[in-house]
Amino acid sequence: MSASVSNLTKRYGMTLALDDVTLDIPDGEVHALLGHNGAGKSTLIKCLGGGVSPTSGSIELDGQSYDRLSPRESIAAGVAVIYQHLSVVDNLTVAENLFIGQEHTRAGFIRRGLHRERAREALATVGAHGIDPDMKVGALPVGQRQLVEIAKALQRDARLLILDEPTAALSRDEAANLGELVRDLAGRGIAILYVTHLLGEVLTLADAATVMRNGRSVWTARGSDITRES
Ligand code: ADP
Ligand code: ADP
Repeated sequence: MSASVSNLTKRYGMTLALDDVTLDIPDGEVHALLGHNGAGKSTLIKCLGGGVSPTSGSIELDGQSYDRLSPRESIAAGVAVIYQHLSVVDNLTVAENLFIGQEHTRAGFIRRGLHRERAREALATVGAHGIDPDMKVGALPVGQRQLVEIAKALQRDARLLILDEPTAALSRDEAANLGELVRDLAGRGIAILYVTHLLGEVLTLADAATVMRNGRSVWTARGSDITRES
């Protein structure tokens, strides 16, 4: 989907965590977000994910405008945030994690083994054909736990995927695999906000990049302008 924030401001007492931030992420764009600690990246993510209410400004998701989003509204609008600390539940199976809270997780669905087939389909959407749906998530390497969480987001029809330093805990191979998946998801029209401090990731993955500093968006570029000297 297309997502944008307009003139978004967030105050915490005296701190201006977001200061008049405007950002556009069209359909199928991988938009890198950079900035030092304290720049306002987490606050921006949380405004989109529904954990933080902006002080002023607006958020637009597929043409619908919001002053603020609750976590529930954010999910319903198609936003999924994959934090560094993953929200998959370690002592549930892959399939249980994928379908948690959904109608068909009822006993009959599990008993008839339908969940295994559905889980395989869901895992295929992130190229994770090798993951056993009946494995406990806690037994999987971090790269695979992350894929389960992304697959779960896609199950919920996420159209704006927000990835917060997604390769921080990954091996080199896992990171390369994630990079391919990110490009593949963008190719399917999913908008991706990709928080990173790695220039290599910006150059290989991003269609656009924004740098934040002190709550402000201080630089944005698209396409070949990302690498052009200013
Ligand atoms: P990050 O590396 O993601 O920016 P931080 O350590 O800055 O992580 O923040 C971790 C969490 O603490 C975030 O949820 C952030 O909103 C919150 N936080 C950051 N600064 C403060 C603060 N001064 N007072 C209260 N909470 C804060
Ligand atoms: P980043 O993710 O880029 O590190 P944050 O969004 O976490 O930046 O923080 C932006 C600013 O807002 C920082 O000065 C931080 O201390 C402050 N901040 C973040 N969350 C809170 C909070 N819950 N309460 C007070 N201050 C906060």
